[in-house]
Amino acid sequence: MSTTYPITDHAYDVIVVGAGGAGLRATLGMAAAGLKTACITKVFPTRSHTVAAQGGIGAALGNMAEDSWQWHMYDTVKGSDWLGDQDAIEYMCRAAVPAVHELEHFGVPFSRTKDGRIYQRPFGGHMRNYGEAPVQRACAAADRTGHAILHTLYQQSLKHNAEFFVEYFAIDLIMDDEGACRGVIAWNLDDGTIHRFQGHTTVFATGGYGRAYFSCTSAHTCTGDGNAMAARAGLPLQDHEFIQFHPTGIYGSGCLITEGARGEGGYLTNSEGERFMERYAPTAKDLASRDVVSRSMTVEIREGRGVGAENDHIMLHLEHLGAEILLARLPGITETAKIFAGVDATREPIPVLPTVHYNMGGIPTNHHGEALRPTADDPDAVCRGLMAVGECGCASVHGANRLGTNSLLDIVVFGRAAALRAAEKIKPGSSHPPLPKDSADLALSRLDRLRNANGSQPTAEIRMKMQKTMQSNAAVFRNQDVLAEGCRQIDEVWDTLGDIRLSDRSLIWNSDLVEAFELENLMICAKASLYSAEARKESRGAHAREDFAERDDVNWMKHSLACVDDAGKVTLTYRPVHTYTLTNEAKYIEPQKRVY
Ligand SMILES: Cc1cc2nc3c(=O)[nH]c(=O)nc-3n(C[C@H](O)[C@H](O)[C@H](O)COP(=O)(O)OP(=O)(O)OC[C@H]3O[C@@H](n4cnc5c(N)ncnc54)[C@H](O)[C@@H]3O)c2cc1C
Repeated sequence: MSTTYPITDHAYDVIVVGAGGAGLRATLGMAAAGLKTACITKVFPTRSHTVAAQGGIGAALGNMAEDSWQWHMYDTVKGSDWLGDQDAIEYMCRAAVPAVHELEHFGVPFSRTKDGRIYQRPFGGHMRNYGEAPVQRACAAADRTGHAILHTLYQQSLKHNAEFFVEYFAIDLIMDDEGACRGVIAWNLDDGTIHRFQGHTTVFATGGYGRAYFSCTSAHTCTGDGNAMAARAGLPLQDHEFIQFHPTGIYGSGCLITEGARGEGGYLTNSEGERFMERYAPTAKDLASRDVVSRSMTVEIREGRGVGAENDHIMLHLEHLGAEILLARLPGITETAKIFAGVDATREPIPVLPTVHYNMGGIPTNHHGEALRPTADDPDAVCRGLMAVGECGCASVHGANRLGTNSLLDIVVFGRAAALRAAEKIKPGSSHPPLPKDSADLALSRLDRLRNANGSQPTAEIRMKMQKTMQSNAAVFRNQDVLAEGCRQIDEVWDTLGDIRLSDRSLIWNSDLVEAFELENLMICAKASLYSAEARKESRGAHAREDFAERDDVNWMKHSLACVDDAGKVTLTYRPVHTYTLTNEAKYIEPQKRVY
């Protein structure tokens, strides 16, 4: 290292990295339990991607018609294409009802039914009585549910004594010789100082890595930082091949039109004006699971029935719903359609295309949110001192495909679970053992290397090559040639990381340096995704292979674990899916053919 960096030290009971819904719910619970809690975030809390969530949060409240958490559990297991861990899914679906009531009491302004109860709308894959017919389960605050939840959770966190470190960028974890996590090193973007946060537990709540792709619905901040920090600490990334394409991103811009639009009665048509989903999913139609709808749209386009001058997209109709409903239930997306598609949704259809939306995979955890470092003897071995919740974690409740509304649910349920676990295990104010001497070396040597990067390629150029590779080689449909080519191309892009050129060496508001860190993180996520996808010789949920069109439970009902080392080498192993439940109130759901 050519420069020495002065370090400011902090000691807390717990450190939460991320202030989206998952991070704030964990922070709030930990602070409320009397734990000295720090929350570090690279953007102001209410700018986290959770703010953009539109459609709703799933819970079997039964406000509109009969519903039960066991039906919700069944739909989630089926939606996951039997890759989800059934103990974790049981935990989440049961906790959903009290979680939503808790949000209501915290102050989330949910939309209401005439008699004053929380309004619920239909959503893809949510069915009554084990798959019989659609049910209204998505609890909504108009089409700004994430905004309402995030602002409420932030206000609640401020009420307790959590300390926020806003616009601090976490660079890397501090690990000790026994492989336990002891805290994190972060860079204060505002004044350029370096901070060492020591904690009994560090909780990652850093969100997804949608930005590994060229076109996605996620914010520019969704760069998989937590996943990559875990990988650099030697943990595997689980199920990274499962990436959700949302059926209705606006053609061209990628901005999301919520599934709630179809929940309210919207439908898709092809160039012949046909409501084609009736052919692919006779029961659920436009409200089939997201992977099913995205594939059907892609097939329509491929067979020449796409709309527009290039026959390359599909139309979403809302105009028949009338201006009054659109204004009351979908005001945000009506505005989005106008701005990003130039379309008045009360009069004409919106051009849409399947767009990258959500990462089912992430840091493996148990249903308490504790990160796992699986071994051959113990596939559920816990990595001491580290937790992961929200989109960066993989509990795994979404398996191979997430149901809409189950992520807002996941973040509050597992944010809370992590807080409960921390409160159970940590005595407030207990002393910290000394840190290893080299505790900051990994982070600072990266900082120094990137700051002085003197190659020939700007970060944006390398990032574009990565995004284009992911966009064309890890798409809705996949096959061996395309995936193998993707692995080859991403290796090539990896090799150019050493050739980054930074225009600015400053440590104060250096967005160039932030983007270089984020690019390295995205590259680890992209590698894990492509290599895991190439190896998985079956179709399951969002991973649809044309050369292996069927699900293969005998050989592939298992989680992929990808270790990415410093040189970019990917090593794959596997761990079993949890096929048991936590209580007798839920029954193990046997694999079935997945039809909607
Ligand atoms: C447009 C859109 C609409 C959606 N609609 C719905 C919906 O209706 N229902 C539903 O269930 N799900 C929906 N989802 C999915 C859901 O919103 C997300 O999966 C979820 O909000 C993720 O929350 P999170 O707390 O895990 O992460 P985020 O909200 O993404 O927050 C990540 C946090 O980590 C911090 N961070 C990241 N890296 C670092 C670092 N290196 N250092 C410091 N801080 C860092 C960021 O500052 C941020 O605070 C939607 C997603 C999108 C993109």
